[in-house]
Amino acid sequence: MSIVRRGRFAPTPSGQFHLGNAFAALVAWLQIRQAGGTFIMRVEDIDKPRSRVAYREQQLNDLRWLGLDWDEGPDQGGPHAPYLQSLRDSLYEEAITRLETAGLLYPCYCSRAELAQIASAPHGLSSEGPAYPGWCRHLSEQERAERARVKTPSLRFRMPDAPVDFRDGIYGDMHYEGEALGDFVVKRADGMYSYQLAVTVDDAAMGITDVVRGADLLDSTPRQLALYKTLDLQTPRFAHVPLLGDAGGERFSKRDKSLALQGLRERRVRAERLVGLLAHLAGWLDRPEPVTASELVRHADLATLPRTLIPVPDAYLSWLSQ
Ligand code: GLU
Repeated sequence: MSIVRRGRFAPTPSGQFHLGNAFAALVAWLQIRQAGGTFIMRVEDIDKPRSRVAYREQQLNDLRWLGLDWDEGPDQGGPHAPYLQSLRDSLYEEAITRLETAGLLYPCYCSRAELAQIASAPHGLSSEGPAYPGWCRHLSEQERAERARVKTPSLRFRMPDAPVDFRDGIYGDMHYEGEALGDFVVKRADGMYSYQLAVTVDDAAMGITDVVRGADLLDSTPRQLALYKTLDLQTPRFAHVPLLGDAGGERFSKRDKSLALQGLRERRVRAERLVGLLAHLAGWLDRPEPVTASELVRHADLATLPRTLIPVPDAYLSWLSQ
């Protein structure tokens, strides 16, 4: 008996969606619709002060406007409700307890200023930031007690000193040295659970088989794989969708208001045009032409996606509003 594939899109409601977010969502949706699977919408509003209900509603409306739909999510519920991370703290705390019991966490007292020093050191920057050099890993009980008097610690996961290998559905064979990734935070000093912890716990709890997301999270995957292994969870397949950028190769960001989907909608751009442009950038159409998301289900093929940032020529952006 073949299992029903389960994919998801996991937006963070701290800003507006731009073309690149639409691209990642479209690819994730197409892959699951093609496989006849179940598509889940999970809102990653774990950072409560930065999350806004208005952004959440706007993002979900943007996705509906694109022609995407989902089978489980915050609006319609489902077997793994709640689909808002802000309501799932008890699951994250359970995972923290398991990691703590296994001796895999340690308190970290480093200040922002100390961590900023590593950021300016010549380390490779990744989505997680520069690798933590392990300053608090080997503190004695006495040193910990002294620091605890002046500072509430965050909790860091001891990244195993072993290579992590995985096959990405778009980027191919990936190899990371565990040591180079560094120990990462799973719970912040203010009590907030980290993205790495929450995403892993939720993808496993929701039975996700296929994680398709933006390539900005590629370097997060080996960290999450270490958590899957340690917590003895079923590992999904991963595919990272290339980022989109301007003609000069600068990646689009949430700050580019002119590329926000909301703005395109207000300028009466038709969703079919945007979907057609994204399909062309993905290599599924010879040129941008209007197409609906459901018409694309037949064409989508992860294998044609490039492994580098895709620059979007200005002429294509003007074509959108024609
Ligand atoms: N919430 C993350 C973001 O908006 C995506 C997480 C994921 O897909 O793993 O960047």
